[in-house]
Amino acid sequence: MRGRVFETLSCLLHFALASCQSAGKQDADFAIISGQRILMDTLISIDVYVAKEDSSAVVHRDIAKAFDAMSRIDSLMSSYSANSEVAEINRRAEQEPVAISAFTDSVLQTALWASEISDGAFDVTVAPILQLWGFGTEKLGVPDEKSIKALLSVIDYRLMSRSSGAVRFQKEGMAIDLGGVAKGLAVDVAIQTLQADGYRDVKVKAGGDMRMLASSLTAGRRYIWIQHPRANDKFFGKFRLDSGAVSTSGDYERFFEQDGVRYHHIIDPETGYPSRKSVSATVLAKDSRTADALSTALFVLGPERGVALADSLGVDAVILSIVGDKILWQTARGFGERLEVIDDVVK
Ligand code: ADP
Ligand code: MG
Repeated sequence: MRGRVFETLSCLLHFALASCQSAGKQDADFAIISGQRILMDTLISIDVYVAKEDSSAVVHRDIAKAFDAMSRIDSLMSSYSANSEVAEINRRAEQEPVAISAFTDSVLQTALWASEISDGAFDVTVAPILQLWGFGTEKLGVPDEKSIKALLSVIDYRLMSRSSGAVRFQKEGMAIDLGGVAKGLAVDVAIQTLQADGYRDVKVKAGGDMRMLASSLTAGRRYIWIQHPRANDKFFGKFRLDSGAVSTSGDYERFFEQDGVRYHHIIDPETGYPSRKSVSATVLAKDSRTADALSTALFVLGPERGVALADSLGVDAVILSIVGDKILWQTARGFGERLEVIDDVVK
């Protein structure tokens, strides 16, 4: 799939740049031990910062353990693997309540929370429209308008009930998709695993989702780089972060082109078409699952409503849009003061 190729390339490039930029710090009082794996169609990287004398074999083993935990999340959450809990819900929840694990239930809680606070801009029941466009398959293409319109009535998170560990759809043809929170969730699980193993300085990155831990070993030394939305080899901006979660949703992450028009994977549930109000949204939050859901929500809401929502939630955020050959950015809370813009030109 073309979109996948784009994403992988952009990740590899991004990763190479990020590594170059931290290379100058290698002579510091810590060593960085890293691992990469492709999971969820995304290049995932884990960096663990340790004292120079620590055993790298042990760290590599613990990194592999964290990847394995992420991989389990993938099989649990994926809409595309037939034996996932999500697939089970989508097969049966329009006929009867489907019992789910406590873990899936807590993920759904986050997804429903994002759906509610964004007034349905994030909508966990967007799956039928994603399927119609062919996202997640090899058959991507622009559907005809009639088919899109016909599906809009089943895209409504309020028609999904979740109680006593079970899920039930109130309309035929409904389905859920956890793609808007899955990577964040996997990042959180990797962080928890490494934290339980005693690591205090860690960076886990899965595409646009990243979470960091910092002790005095690395505090004050790391930047987060925000991808330039129209140039894979450039950054729009950067800001300092020691620990916490950041997520960026962008229209350049996964897309295909038809007749010279770009169609990406974040759908506005109101129209059934890719949301066009922004080109990227970056959000900070306490954990990655929250940041992940919020970045998708703010992306769909666009600069004005998105910033208003971030302000009301008290989270730092920046939403980018393009006007002419300039990137415009709007920040929530005090984020404008932290953000250093590097390149706001579209060529
Ligand atoms: P990525 O997964 O590329 O990091 P996002 O976190 O923004 O990007 O999530 C996009 C994914 O969320 C899509 O691939 C799809 O699975 C799902 N999705 C798309 N539109 C919506 C929406 N309006 N609400 C909830 N989930 C969505
Ligand atoms: Mg997201």
